[in-house]
Amino acid sequence: MSGVSEIRGVLRTQPAGSTRSTRSALTAERASAVAAGVVDPELPVVTIEELGILRDVRVVDDRAGGPDVEVEITPTYSGCPALDAIRDDITAALREAGAQAVRVRTLLSPAWSTDRISAAGRRKLAEAGIAPPRPGGASRGRGPVLVELSVRCPRCGSADTHEVSRFGPTACTALRTCASCLEPFEHVKPL
Ligand SMILES: [Zn+2]
Repeated sequence: MSGVSEIRGVLRTQPAGSTRSTRSALTAERASAVAAGVVDPELPVVTIEELGILRDVRVVDDRAGGPDVEVEITPTYSGCPALDAIRDDITAALREAGAQAVRVRTLLSPAWSTDRISAAGRRKLAEAGIAPPRPGGASRGRGPVLVELSVRCPRCGSADTHEVSRFGPTACTALRTCASCLEPFEHVKPL
């Protein structure tokens, strides 16, 4: 028992810049950057920020052992199976960065739409062979047909593509093939 007390005493007197001090220096800016760097479990080429899933990161209740962090996300689909994984990944990343407690709130309104995917996110999806939805493709009232016609092959750029399966390797993508280069590719379903 006395041994434990001695160890605690040593930790308390560690100079600034020690691991302990670094862990307690989780600023709002750093917390936002850490959360923004979490990749989507289903589309790991893009981060949750680039997908527009990440809404807000707040450092609250900052105290000696590190702050609590509140995160708000809007999942791509309300029933998206990736939601639990995203929540776990955010929590793990922020705790690793020094947060004591992490609360991840799910906001369903305003709903996520593919319009929330950033320009960088669209580029990375395209580079990975995943056709990103056209900006504005999710506009309400246009109907799905125009969206379908606009899906271009990420490899050759041909618009002559068609959907093979509504459900691709992930719940959020559909599987399509290109009639020009005959390559299959994933397409992020517009919402
Ligand atoms: Zn093609």
